[in-house]
Amino acid sequence: MYDRFNRDISYLRISVTDRCNLRCRYCMPEEGISRMAHDDILSFEEMVDVVKRGVARGIKKVRLTGGEPLVRKGIVELVRMIREIDGVEELNMTTNGILLDKYAKDLKAAGLDRINISLDTMNAKRYKYITRGGNIQDVLKGIDAAINAGLSPVKLNCVVRNHSDEPDAKAVKEFAASKGLKVRFIHQMDLETGHFSIVEGGEGGNCKTCNRLRLTADGNIKPCLFSDKAYDVKDLGVEEAYNKAITNKPEEGSKNQSNQFYNIGG
Ligand code: SAM
Ligand code: SF4
Repeated sequence: MYDRFNRDISYLRISVTDRCNLRCRYCMPEEGISRMAHDDILSFEEMVDVVKRGVARGIKKVRLTGGEPLVRKGIVELVRMIREIDGVEELNMTTNGILLDKYAKDLKAAGLDRINISLDTMNAKRYKYITRGGNIQDVLKGIDAAINAGLSPVKLNCVVRNHSDEPDAKAVKEFAASKGLKVRFIHQMDLETGHFSIVEGGEGGNCKTCNRLRLTADGNIKPCLFSDKAYDVKDLGVEEAYNKAITNKPEEGSKNQSNQFYNIGG
C-alpha cells in the first residue's frame, strides 16, 4: 500500500505489551507509569486479524516489540500464529534479552526469523544503572541462546547519547565483532520534543524512506513514531483504522506527546 508520499508501506511493528521487566532510563519512568487497562489489550486473535488484513494490503514484514515482548504470556504461541499467515515474509523481534535464554529455542521452532537484542554497555554496573536493576549476565546468556538456536541474524541495538565512538558503544562494538554480530546504533531520542535522527546500521529515523506502521498493545494503529496520530481498531474497525493511518501518515515526524517508547515499541 502506498501513502500520499509514494512510500510503499510494508512493515508493521507490533507492541505486544506495554509491560517490561526493566526500567531503562531513556524509555520508562521509574514509577507512575500509566499502564494500559487489561481489558484494552488486544488478544492474540485480534493481533492476528490486524496482521492478516495488513498482509492483504501489502505488509510483508512484522516485528514484535513492547514493552518487553517476552513478558507477554503465550508469546511463543503468538509467533506461531503470525508465522502461519501466508504472505508474512519476515517475522522478527526486538527484546531486552533478559528472558531469552529460556525462550530462544521455542521462538525459533515457532518460526521467528531474526532477533534484535538491546545492549547499551558491556559494564555490569552501568547496565544495572541504565536499566534500573537489570543483570547483564542474563542478556549475555540470552545472546548465546539466540545464536545457538539458529535465529539469524542476531543483531544488537545500542542506544548512544552522542556518537558510536563513546566508550560504552565501542565496547559493545568490540563484543559484537567477537561474536560475529552486527550492531545498530540508535541515538537517544525524545518523543516529546521531537528529537530524532537516523539509526546507524539500520533503517529507522529516515522519514523519506519510512515504510512502517505501528500497532500498540491496546489496538491503535500509528502511522509515525513522532506523531500523536492514532487510529483505534476497536472503535473504527481494522480496515478503517488502516485507511486513516495510511491517509494521514505525515511526510515527516514532528512530536509525540501521547506515547513513550515503552508503549509504542520504538
Ligand atoms: N524491551 C525491548 C527492548 O528493549 O529491546 C523492546 C522494546 S524497546 C522500546 C525497543 C527499542 O527502543 C530498544 O532497542 C530500546 O533501546 C529503544 N529505545 C527505547 N527508548 C529509546 C529512546 N529514548 N531513544 C532511542 N531508542 C530507544
Ligand atoms: Fe523495557 Fe525495552 Fe524500554 Fe528498556 S527499552 S524499559 S527493556 S521496553
